[in-house]
This record gives sequence, structure tokens and C-alpha cells, in this order.
Amino acid sequence: SSTLVSEMLEEVADRFSFQLQQRKIQIMLHVEHGVTSLLLDRDKIDQVLDNLVSNAIKYTGDEGTIRLEARKVDKDMLEISVQDNGMGIPKKDLSRIFDRFYRVDKARSRNMGGTGLGLSIAREIVKAHGGTIALESELGQGTRVLFTLPIRQEEEGEV
Ligand code: ATP
Ligand code: MG
Repeated sequence: SSTLVSEMLEEVADRFSFQLQQRKIQIMLHVEHGVTSLLLDRDKIDQVLDNLVSNAIKYTGDEGTIRLEARKVDKDMLEISVQDNGMGIPKKDLSRIFDRFYRVDKARSRNMGGTGLGLSIAREIVKAHGGTIALESELGQGTRVLFTLPIRQEEEGEV
């Protein structure tokens, strides 16, 4: 069955509400007018969203801000983005960030936990859905990860 995009994003935020509160991180949701529901493998896309939001929390200081956004990029593509105003990623690491086990600078990740698999798994899942994923980052400013998903509505009469 199809997934309501706004509900899916609200539920990611809910799953992290404890950590967000603890770190005094604000999360903002923006769903563009006209974005409603689409067919997707909800468990898989939740796995992508959970990784991106957990990264945003891990690599953002207390009292930071995370923005979750969904918008249509054309008539049959949805773009979902997760943006933070955290520590960012050095330019030299950007090309390897989706590689399996790649983590920026062991020293800063040491106490953060994780294996370095999250982004590579996210990329596999998004590709399998027929979408693409990209990451933009500015050291000391923040990071934005965006991925697209084809909008496939349920067949008429099937709803
Ligand atoms: P895992 O996801 O397996 O728990 P991880 O979070 O370290 O471990 P990835 O999600 O693949 O692994 O991210 C790879 C690396 O990219 C991270 O270790 C971190 O150095 C960097 N990174 C990812 N997201 C962000 C972000 N939002 N801000 C700053 N650095 C990030
Ligand atoms: Mg991760």
C-alpha cells in the first residue's frame, strides 16, 4: 500500500525524540504542498531515513538544527533531504563517503559509535528504488544529504 510522506517523516522524528531532546536539537519538517503519498518499501526507506537522521544527530552539536524536507523535483520524482548544521565533512573525504566502512577521521568518530556502513547501505536501498543519493557538506557549517524516489502512485481502483 502507499505511504503518506508527511507521516513517514513525522515518524522518523518521533523515533529519535529522546536523543533530540537530550541534545536539545531541533528538528523541522517541511513537506511541500502537493506531496502526498507514494508506493515504496517502507521498511527500507525507514532504514535510509534512520541512518541519515542518526548521522545528523551524531555529527551535530547540542542545540543544533536538523531539517527534514520533501519536495517534488519533477512530476514523477520526489526529493527527500536531511540537513544539519553540524561539524560537516572535509572536502578530501567527500568522494569516499559512500564507501563501505569509510568514516571520516577516526579520532572524531571514535566516541560516536557506528561501523561506517550506514551511507553505503542507504545508497544501495535508494538505487534499488530507482533513485539517486548525494551529499553536500561544508566543514564547520553542516551537511545535507538528498535522495530521490520515483513517484509511483497506486493503480486506480486499487486503493
Ligand atoms: P553507521 O551508520 O554504520 O552506524 P557511521 O555513521 O559512522 O556508522 P555512515 O553513516 O556510513 O557511517 O557515515 C560515514 C561517515 O561519514 C561517518 O563516520 C562520518 O564521519 C561522516 N558523516 C556522515 N554523515 C555525517 C553528517 N551528517 N555530518 C558529518 N559527518 C557525517
Ligand atoms: Mg551512520
